[in-house]
Amino acid sequence: MLTMPKNLPQPQLKPNTEVVLQKRYLRKDLSGKQVETPRDLFWRVASCIAAEEAKYNQSTCKGDVLARDFYDLMTSWKFLPNSPTLMNAGTDLGQLSACFVLPVGDSIEEIFDAVKYAAMIHKSGGGTGFSFSRLRPKDSRVGSTGGVASGPVSFLRIFNTATEQVKQGGTRRGANMGILRVDHPDILEFIRAKEKEGEFNNFNLSVGLTEVFMRAVENDEHYDLVAPNSGEVINRLRAREIFELLVKKAWQSGDPGIVFLDRINRDNPTPDQGEIESTNPCGEQPLLPYEACNLGSINLSCFYVPGHNDAADPARDGIDWAELKRVVHLSVRFLDNVIDASRFPLDSITETVRKNRKIGLGVMGFADLLYQLEMAYDSQQGLELGERIMAFIQEEGHKASAQLAVERGAFPAYATSVYAKKKLGPYRNATVTTIAPTGTLSIIAGCSSGVEPLFALCFTRNILDGERLVEVNPHFEAALADAGLFSHELMDAVVAKGSIQEMDYLPAKLRKVFVTAMDIAPVWHLRMQAAFQRHTDNAVSKTVNLTNSATEQDIFDIYWLAYQEGCKGVTVYRDGCKSIQVLATGEGQ
Ligand code: UDP
Repeated sequence: MLTMPKNLPQPQLKPNTEVVLQKRYLRKDLSGKQVETPRDLFWRVASCIAAEEAKYNQSTCKGDVLARDFYDLMTSWKFLPNSPTLMNAGTDLGQLSACFVLPVGDSIEEIFDAVKYAAMIHKSGGGTGFSFSRLRPKDSRVGSTGGVASGPVSFLRIFNTATEQVKQGGTRRGANMGILRVDHPDILEFIRAKEKEGEFNNFNLSVGLTEVFMRAVENDEHYDLVAPNSGEVINRLRAREIFELLVKKAWQSGDPGIVFLDRINRDNPTPDQGEIESTNPCGEQPLLPYEACNLGSINLSCFYVPGHNDAADPARDGIDWAELKRVVHLSVRFLDNVIDASRFPLDSITETVRKNRKIGLGVMGFADLLYQLEMAYDSQQGLELGERIMAFIQEEGHKASAQLAVERGAFPAYATSVYAKKKLGPYRNATVTTIAPTGTLSIIAGCSSGVEPLFALCFTRNILDGERLVEVNPHFEAALADAGLFSHELMDAVVAKGSIQEMDYLPAKLRKVFVTAMDIAPVWHLRMQAAFQRHTDNAVSKTVNLTNSATEQDIFDIYWLAYQEGCKGVTVYRDGCKSIQVLATGEGQ
C-alpha cells in the first residue's frame, strides 16, 4: 500500500456516515477493536485501486497522483464504489464485487456446488443470482436412484437456509435472486413460493418472461410448459391466467418480480459465451454464469451549481457538466482497476470476469438534484433531465472505456463480441453502465438512493441489525428556511406524515417539487425507469412504489407498460403489504 501523505485531509462525514462506517466498513482486529479511521479506509481503497495502474506501461496516470485523485473523488462524495470494494480493498479477503451469477445444473453435485460457491461469495459481501430453470420438474424420475426429483422450489429452500447461516459470520447479509422461466413446469409453485410471510426471506424471486409468453398474453393464447431435462411438453397453460396470478402475488407481497429474458439476451454483448439466465439480487446486473461485476455510483447532487439555474437559458441549467465528465472518466478507470485488484473465490469466476471486464457505473442522488433544481420528479422536465444526464454518462463512460482500450487493450473477448461485429469500439469493458440501488452507499454519501424518489421528506430508517436513524432531507429543510416557513411544529407534522401533499397551507410550488415515492403516480416511476434504461448498458434497479390502496389492475398496467417501454424487468412494492419493511413513514410506526 502507498504511504498515506501527511497532509491528507480528513473526510467531512455526513451525519449518518460514521454510524454506517463503524458498523460494517471500518476494519477491526480479532478482538473486535476498530483499527482504522474513515480517512484510513478511503486511503486503503484509493491506494489499493491506484496501485493496479503500475502494471500498465502505457498508463497516462502515475500511481501516487491517481491514489490522491481517487481519495478526493470518494471523500468529496462524488463517487463511491460498491460496498465490497470499500470493505475489502487492500485486505486479505480482496473480493471487491457486489454482483455474481452462478449456474445451477441438474444434478445433486452441481446443485450443492452452487450452494457452496454462494456461501463463499456471501462471506465476502457479494450477492448471488441463480436461474433454477435447468432443474428437472418436481416428481420427474431420477435415473441413478429410481426415485423422484424434488424440483426447483424445494432446492431453493436449501440455498435460502445456507444463506441464513452464513449471514451470521459474513460482512453483510447475503442477498440472492432466484429466477425461474415462465415455461418451466413448476412455475405455479414458484409464483406462490413467497405466499407465507418470511418464506425464502433471503431471496428476491423473479419470473423469467419470454417473448413467446408475452405474445400469448397479448393474444389470450395458451403456451407450453417444457421439461428442461427432456424437452418434453408437460402441460399447456393460459398465458393471461399466469400473468394475472403474477400480478396478484406481487400485489399481496411484492414477490415475484418479472424479468424479460429475451430482451436481456438481445443486449448480451458476448452471446458466443452463452445465454444470460439470471441477474444479481436486485436485478440491475444481468450476468453470464460464473460472471461477476463491480459497481460504482456517481452522486448527482454534487454537480448542482447554485445560482446558475435559469429556465430561459439552456446554457445555465444548474449542472456542472465539465466536472461530471471528469468524474465519469476517473470513475471508469477506477472500476476497471477494481477488476484487476479483485480476488475471486473461484477460478471460473476469475476467468469469466477477466474475459469480459464488465463494470457498472451508475448514479445516486438524482431525486436530490431534482429538488435542488426545483424540478418535479413526476414531470416531463424531470424525465428529460434524467434522460439527458444518463445519456451523457453513458456516452462519456463509453469514451473512457475506449480510451482505456487504447492504453491497455480491449477486453479479451472483444473480437467475438457484438461490438466487433457492429464495428464499434474497441472497448476495455463489455458493459460500462448499471443503475444500482445504492442502499448503503447513499447513506454514506448522504444523498437519495439510485434514481429513486425520496421515500419521505423526514423518516426513520431501520438499518443494520435493528438500529434506527432519523433523517430530514437537507434540501427540503433549506427550501423551507429560504421561504421563511421552517418551524418545529411543521417538521413534526412532516415527520408524522412523510409527505406534504395534503398541507395546502404550503405554497403550491413547494408541494409540486418536494414529492415523495408514494405521492408519485406509478406510471411516472415507470417512465423514469425507462428513461434511464434507454441509456444504460445493463439494467436499472427501481421499485415502483404503490400506495396501500393500489389495485391489482394498477400492477397489471405497470407490468404491461414496463414491457412496452423497453424495461428489462420491474419490481413493485405496495405500502404495508409486509409487516416489516426497510423504510417507513411516521404514520406507519
Ligand atoms: N448486495 C448484497 N447484499 C446486500 C446489499 C446488496 O449482496 O445486503 C449486492 C446485490 O448484488 C445488489 C448489489 O449488491 O444488487 C448492489 O446493491 P446496493 O447498491 O444497494 O449496495 P451498496 O453498494 O450500496 O451496499
